[in-house]
Amino acid sequence: MRILAAIALVALFGAAAVAMSAAREDARPPAAAPAAPRYTPIPPSATHLPDLIADRQVRHDARLFGRFVVPVDDVGVPDDPDLLPGAPRDYRAGIHEGIDFPAPPGTPVHAAADGVVLRVDTSFLDWTREQQEIALYEALQLGYTPAATLDRVRGRQVWIDHGGGVVTRYAHLSAVETLAVGQKIAAGTLIGAVGSSGYPQGGPHLHFEVRVGDDFYGDGLAGDPLIRACARLFAT
Ligand SMILES: [Zn+2]
Repeated sequence: MRILAAIALVALFGAAAVAMSAAREDARPPAAAPAAPRYTPIPPSATHLPDLIADRQVRHDARLFGRFVVPVDDVGVPDDPDLLPGAPRDYRAGIHEGIDFPAPPGTPVHAAADGVVLRVDTSFLDWTREQQEIALYEALQLGYTPAATLDRVRGRQVWIDHGGGVVTRYAHLSAVETLAVGQKIAAGTLIGAVGSSGYPQGGPHLHFEVRVGDDFYGDGLAGDPLIRACARLFAT
């Protein structure tokens, strides 16, 4: 009898718990349809941005000054605002998130700092002109470039994790070196070659991007402060 009572009690508590959790579910407001992400997410395997600096002030974080080498030989850091972060990209209703180094196709591209390979597009298949046109039209309709489109516009890529939430991206490459995700890499190591994959209309150049957490270095800056902030990234 005592066992039966115990079973009944357990069943009663169980039913109550189910009812309470169901009530909690009901209390939740209906979830809004998820918006298309605007940034290509950095994989969770990347190092975490310390909470202390995990705000938008990182856009011109002094801890990055002088930390990089220019990833393309014999090319200066551009000072044309159209080649810098924040420049409008009217063809996709978005803004530029990196620094463009124009260079002939095939020019060697080097790691800008010590780090760990986070992504390398070894088996890369470029999109067709038609796929590109559809995606860019959709971006214009949305008023911003969805992350997936932005990723394809960047073409063949290598990403390097430098720790502390800092990741560099090398985009539009024509080829990549034999690299493995997780491989340690030293500043100056050959990682690929300049190309125009993803957006051939832009002409051959290296798109070099410094991500700090979810943000891109240079976000929110303009004019001389932006030009200075970009130049200061690189050791002279
Ligand atoms: Zn670019």
